[in-house]
Amino acid sequence: MANIVAIVGRPNVGKSTLFNRLIEKKQAIMDDQPGVTRDRHYGFGHWTDKYFTVIDTGGYVTGSADQFEGEIRKQVKTAMEEASVIVFMVDSHVGMTDLDKEFANVVRETNKPVVVVANKADNLEYQMMANEFYALGITDEIFPISANSGSGTGDLLDHIISHFEEQGDENPHEGIPRIAILGRPNAGKSSFLNTITGNVRSIVNEEAGTTRDAVDTHYKMYGQNFILTDTAGIRRKSRVKENIEFYSVMRSIQALQDSDVCVVMVDATRGLESQDVNIISLAVKYGKGVMIMINKWDLVQDKSSNTAKEYADRIYERIGDLRYIPIIFTSVTEKQRIFQAMELAVKIFENKNRKIPTSKINDILLKEIEKTPPPATKGKYIKIKYITQLPSKTPSFAFFCNLPQYIKAPYQRFLENRIREKFEFTGVPLKIFFRKK
Ligand code: GDP
Ligand code: GDP
Repeated sequence: MANIVAIVGRPNVGKSTLFNRLIEKKQAIMDDQPGVTRDRHYGFGHWTDKYFTVIDTGGYVTGSADQFEGEIRKQVKTAMEEASVIVFMVDSHVGMTDLDKEFANVVRETNKPVVVVANKADNLEYQMMANEFYALGITDEIFPISANSGSGTGDLLDHIISHFEEQGDENPHEGIPRIAILGRPNAGKSSFLNTITGNVRSIVNEEAGTTRDAVDTHYKMYGQNFILTDTAGIRRKSRVKENIEFYSVMRSIQALQDSDVCVVMVDATRGLESQDVNIISLAVKYGKGVMIMINKWDLVQDKSSNTAKEYADRIYERIGDLRYIPIIFTSVTEKQRIFQAMELAVKIFENKNRKIPTSKINDILLKEIEKTPPPATKGKYIKIKYITQLPSKTPSFAFFCNLPQYIKAPYQRFLENRIREKFEFTGVPLKIFFRKK
């Protein structure tokens, strides 16, 4: 289940500051890419054992009170539709403004949990001033925080995660691959889905999402059942014409979190854009299977035998060299490699569920480790004794050793590369842990 926290409120109250505090800043190599962080309005965070996505509406909402009825109102409503918890932020320095009241009126319309946060409560005086906002009458409790210093954010997070849904195991579709087709408008998602589904032998059933616009469809192809989440219809909704970008990002996150495998579709003539990079990075963080589909390959002129390889190299450069993410070049209109693309997605699903028997993994990897043991640190020898795959949804491996704290990132990468070399994990992020034994 997707836990999404949306931060709403008028400009300048400190939404982006809180956002930056809630997300993990060093979560992925890709975040350091220029051009990626700048237009990032959502990020990945966790508190205790709960994981969530934070949406900062600040980057989108820039207007003043007289613009409220237009753009702002729509943005906030969209955020509220998609979020599981709404953080409504006000400013205890400035106190209550007309615009706050406008926001409050919109926020009041939701039946989702709302948390009122009075920011800039940097000292006792301002904490007292936060009480003014009880007059909004939205909640019984107001959280005075300082997004700058972080004070009060621990209590706030405890409260936010208490609203998250429990991770139920009642998924009726367990075992069936859930494949989300993601990508920017016009990449070719609808055409792809139409072509694929036009060829399936039996469409098992079709269910429109209850509160969402994405449609989950069950298909059977080559005797294999799977569920496709289609995010393509988004821009066709006239009511969101003005904030397509915002809406499509949020839809994508939602679909991503509910999926096993993400197919990120890119228009070859435009190349990978920062939103695509963000989606890939998020999929990796969530431990989802990922593949990149470079569509409209027919439109790329003067192709030589090297064109695809060079294109792929440029993409790997942008995504932090994550070469385990496969790239497939397709043309939906020319029907080139589109069924291979589906097969690849299903293959990635299988890889994600791969469980290697403990004896096998020890037989193979301990030999490699013996050949190239972890370098001694501070005169201490590190001995890896055995390895086991943990029973988790994303393939995770625990290496038991005498001094886990001395194993460094390069050796961890070495181990990951050996695992990938010996076992088939194409398209799947791996997690590696070192434990004391
Ligand atoms: P947004 O427009 O709501 O996203 O607001 P920003 O996060 O950009 O913050 C607006 C201004 O308020 C910036 O100058 C921040 O440095 C400042 N600010 C944010 N949080 C705090 C805080 O806790 N205390 C104080 N004193 N200033 C803050
Ligand atoms: P979506 O917004 O991602 O669902 O994209 P659409 O499926 O609506 O496609 C956008 C446009 O690109 C349409 O005009 C399609 O006919 C065209 N298109 C889709 N795939 C290809 C392709 O492989 N090659 C070419 N030349 N055009 C394509």
